[in-house]
Amino acid sequence: MLNLSGKNALVTGIANNRSIAWGIAQQLHAAGANLGVTYLPDEKGRFEKKVRELVEEPIAPSIFVPCDVQNDEQIQEAFNTVADKWGKLDILIHCLAFADKEGLSGDFSAISRQAFSQALEISTYSLGRLAGAAKPLMNEGGSIVTLTYLGGVRAIPNYNLMGVAKAGLEMSVRYLAAEMGPHNIRVNAISAGPIRTLASSAVGGILDMIHHVEEVAPLRRTVTQTEVGNAAAFLCSDLASGITGQVLYVDAGYEIMGM
Ligand code: NAD
Repeated sequence: MLNLSGKNALVTGIANNRSIAWGIAQQLHAAGANLGVTYLPDEKGRFEKKVRELVEEPIAPSIFVPCDVQNDEQIQEAFNTVADKWGKLDILIHCLAFADKEGLSGDFSAISRQAFSQALEISTYSLGRLAGAAKPLMNEGGSIVTLTYLGGVRAIPNYNLMGVAKAGLEMSVRYLAAEMGPHNIRVNAISAGPIRTLASSAVGGILDMIHHVEEVAPLRRTVTQTEVGNAAAFLCSDLASGITGQVLYVDAGYEIMGM
């Protein structure tokens, strides 16, 4: 049985009730994990309030801290809080990404240097950075899960810059799995089918992509945040103890199709 009781799980990337990270947090909680949540702070504190109101009652996180992955001090402070409050970390969910709009439509060759480095820093580099901060706290082994998309292995209309970020992310998963395996820390990615969220609404033509998946995928639909959450809970559990360095498609089967 899938049982995460006694496990401490830090979840990044919850912005609202449509976030994939929210689906994951709820399923980890349902499996018995003790939750910590990070949020992206903004000047007026609106994100903090919104995320706090969303998570407070349903999952009662024992840690709730800001963590902008472009800010090394915030990363360190978040993991210091984990060390002080929990002593050990078992699960890290990396469920965040960002690319400027200019990188998500139009010509790939027109993407600016600045947009390119920002997207790669937030969406790709951050996995290794957070995994490195988690490693010393995963002293009883652990599981790290990140979120990717098919646009990291195939040229999907408008996914452009994020496709490069996801290709790098998937390769980071393999290198991190190789580094951390001897410490019994497993690192995997879930490649989710398209879901309507704040981040995906920035990708040009996302609704067309969802409709296409609904017509073509073997299951004739796309997936839900809960289905992705269930797969994440599995990867974080002892049921997946032999799995590391993998990209698991949770996409209603779309990836196998030739169209
Ligand atoms: P979302 O907008 O709900 O989540 C994106 C999160 O990234 C937000 O919580 C945001 O605060 C966070 N973020 C952005 N910049 C950050 C920074 N500098 N520091 C810390 N956090 C930052 O959208 P989502 O679709 O749930 O995205 C979550 C992950 O799932 C992303 O990696 C995305 O690429 C991936 N994904 C999404 C889909 C989809 O169709 N929605 C499909 C496959 C993979």
